[in-house]
Amino acid sequence: IVPTVSSPACFALHPQVFIMAHVCIHWFRKGLRLHDNPALMAALRDCKELYPLFILDPYLYDQNRAGINRLRFLISSLQDLDCSLRKLNSRLFVVRGKPEEVLPKLFTKWNVTKLTYEYDTEPYSRSRDKNVTMLAEEQRIQVSYKISHTLYDIDRIIEENNGKPPLTYNRLRDIVKALGSPKKPIPAPTVEDMKNIAPFSEKHKPEYGIPSLEELGLDTSSLAEEIFPGGEQEALRRLDAYMQRTGWVCSFEKPNTSPNSLSPSTTVLSPYMTFGCLSARTFWWRLAEVYQGVSHSDPPVSLHGQLLWREFFYTASVGIPNFNKMTGNPACTQVDWDENQEYLAAWREARTGFPFIDAIMTQLRQEGWIHHLARHAVACFLTRGDLWISWEEGQKVFEKLLLDGDWALNAGNWQWLSASTFFHQFFRVYSPVAFGKKTDKNGDYIKKYLPILKKFPPQYIYEPWKAPRSVQQAAGCIVGKDYPKSIIEHEVISKKNIQRMKQAYARRPSGSTESPTKKQGNFVYFIC
Ligand code: FAD
Repeated sequence: IVPTVSSPACFALHPQVFIMAHVCIHWFRKGLRLHDNPALMAALRDCKELYPLFILDPYLYDQNRAGINRLRFLISSLQDLDCSLRKLNSRLFVVRGKPEEVLPKLFTKWNVTKLTYEYDTEPYSRSRDKNVTMLAEEQRIQVSYKISHTLYDIDRIIEENNGKPPLTYNRLRDIVKALGSPKKPIPAPTVEDMKNIAPFSEKHKPEYGIPSLEELGLDTSSLAEEIFPGGEQEALRRLDAYMQRTGWVCSFEKPNTSPNSLSPSTTVLSPYMTFGCLSARTFWWRLAEVYQGVSHSDPPVSLHGQLLWREFFYTASVGIPNFNKMTGNPACTQVDWDENQEYLAAWREARTGFPFIDAIMTQLRQEGWIHHLARHAVACFLTRGDLWISWEEGQKVFEKLLLDGDWALNAGNWQWLSASTFFHQFFRVYSPVAFGKKTDKNGDYIKKYLPILKKFPPQYIYEPWKAPRSVQQAAGCIVGKDYPKSIIEHEVISKKNIQRMKQAYARRPSGSTESPTKKQGNFVYFIC
């Protein structure tokens, strides 16, 4: 209760009682949704004017960091959010610039008294939010944030593990079991929730509109079809469609899904989770409803299990310093990776000469999503399996090209796949030839993404260099001319690399507890 009648942020309920009526910015960053958005609900409380805001931060959305597909996903998500806000007589305000510079100006311009946002665990975001909070408080603005990007409060998980991040999935599971089920999601705000808030004024429109990709300086001429459009509505539609397939949900076991099916064999909800178009808790509780009263798969292989993998890597990313780097990361084995720009470019540009690897990298570039086991195959190939290039290089390429590029999950999974952290059985190497054949003997996936190989007979499609010249001629594709020769000999190099990895492990400081021979469970652990 604030007793100053003259304050612009007050309205009278009763002649003697004044309730603070705020001019509030709700700052959307991730969490691009209305459902299960407690920070947005906090913004609506005692609010007379609301500015739902998104800041196009050049650090996060620089074109070297965010590729065109991801930016398209972001723009669609913002359009969808704007559309939903308009149904509540509000709108989205979009500005460009560094938040620390943009926000103080808007605080003054709009006479802001309150700022709300969803908590973000990334180091860049945490330091940004700390700065913004200081700046806001200097202008006597109330700041409030809520946790809703993850199932649990990640700091709480670390606290429960004596201040350290759990380094195994089972340990994380034990802790979250003790914490109880994740909180239930809250509903999206309604017109009723907005009734005391002044409808937005159209006069702001031109200045704060959502830019198009062209306005962001992007060349859209070579963009492929948008298979996974961004936005909360699409996320909820996709979730609904999957949850209706109750048999599929209950029998879901990640190791039994396919890296090279022609349509995705997992949910592809990851981009929606990354941008927060879908709440993790909503996903969790919808699954719980489907599981209710029927037999179903369990973590780590079930869909609940997948959400816990997300939680696992988030927790590690908060608790392990320098999580996205090898140097200075105490959990990460220090490996003498090579620098080889030629190999790196061949991998990135789908020119390794291994059709399975090149098809995956083509799908990634064109569509922005690849299956988890396809990620395994190309990540192992780039690092410990074949090319001996640092996982940090692969991480950068994925960050740019994946729709679901996520700081914590990307870094965590790259460490896993390169057997640097979490996973230590480096002698288990994916074959760039045999692995894909297990689920696609015919090579249809390769033919889809590398049409130059479409006339190769199945026995050569994974190893076209082995095809006799006459077969290559009949297929209309000469290896070394129309499609690259394989850049390495897998059988030879992978054996050599296992020895190099052995040496890297031998150099680890004494006290490193994880050993490559210690059983890490079964295949389940192998495929995180
Ligand atoms: P589903 O199997 O349907 O799983 C449902 C959800 O669970 C996913 O949407 C995701 O949010 C979560 N999930 C599933 N698997 C994992 C996992 N291994 N780790 C963490 N969360 C998981 N995922 C990202 O979201 N962003 C990344 O940047 C990312 N980088 C990766 C890099 C490498 C090298 C590897 C091997 C994996 C990476 N993953 C990343 C994890 C995983 O591959 C994707 O989350 C998953 O393939 C997304 O597809 P889906 O939504 O169909 O998954």
